[in-house]
Amino acid sequence: RSATRLASSDVATFRSWLDGVDAVLLDCDGVIWRGTTPIPGALAAIDALRAAGKRVVFVSNNSTKSRATYVGKLKRVCGIESTVDDVMSSAFAAASLLASKKLAPAEGHDQVGVFVVGESGLHEELRAQGFRTIGQDEGGGKPFDFAGFDVASLDGGVRAVVQGFDTEFSYNKLALAASYIRYARAEYVATNTDETFPAHGFVVPGGGSMVAALRTGCGVEPEVAGKPSPRLMDLIAAHIGVPASRCAMVGDRLNTDIRFGNSTGAQTALVLTGVTTAAQAEASKGPERPDIVLDSIADVTALLAA
Ligand code: PLP
Ligand code: CA
Repeated sequence: RSATRLASSDVATFRSWLDGVDAVLLDCDGVIWRGTTPIPGALAAIDALRAAGKRVVFVSNNSTKSRATYVGKLKRVCGIESTVDDVMSSAFAAASLLASKKLAPAEGHDQVGVFVVGESGLHEELRAQGFRTIGQDEGGGKPFDFAGFDVASLDGGVRAVVQGFDTEFSYNKLALAASYIRYARAEYVATNTDETFPAHGFVVPGGGSMVAALRTGCGVEPEVAGKPSPRLMDLIAAHIGVPASRCAMVGDRLNTDIRFGNSTGAQTALVLTGVTTAAQAEASKGPERPDIVLDSIADVTALLAA
């Protein structure tokens, strides 16, 4: 059985999909915007969902931005009003996952140190949850000094490595992160494992490609904070006070968004404004088969008004 692709007239199917749902979790890139271009009709659809009493939460695997930055981008790109409590980014999720471990600071340190492979938004979210972060200055063509390297020179306060997308990813960062995991027994958390993402019309390597490098180089599997990790649903449910069974996940990617929703018992909808084609949606199966397929989030407005 293939996923049901809804026409704007399939009101009954849509209503039964949305009935009993209190919160709608919206993936960002490919659903409400593409890069910095809004998907036409996204704002009206979100207004319609909110008017229908649904709590709307923006759930992005892009780890480069803090929640506060997303609030600004939602307003600037789409005109959408939100607060940080409406945003669940993989950077925030990674910081929350690490905080839930309640690691004690290393002897002689008053904060838990984190070696970050990632951009400023990830540092920001970790610092906001009380961590001391390092690693920001290790990229940018700085070569790894094999002869000068000594495990004794590692920062003794570091208890975790958190890895997200990083355009200044380098062998230096890779080797240092692997050393913290291998020699300092640092915990290893990854924000997300997206293999690729679309940027300005081209497919480019995503955070998952860098996670593949580090997990290979350190021999340890990371705990993944973002979609499709079920941990993220626990975090969202606790955060908004709505169980997964009363959430609907809307996304453009089968192996993150749809798998995430299906594996946690949420309702799922795929939109065709992002990385998945109608033919791929048609061929999807098992945990990656969405309940319904919409051409665009914009269709929600007419389906709710009918
Ligand atoms: N990771 C990075 C670095 C990105 O730039 C993007 C999209 O722009 C994503 C992941 C996917 O984000 P989303 O989960 O909002 O589709
Ligand atoms: Ca997406």
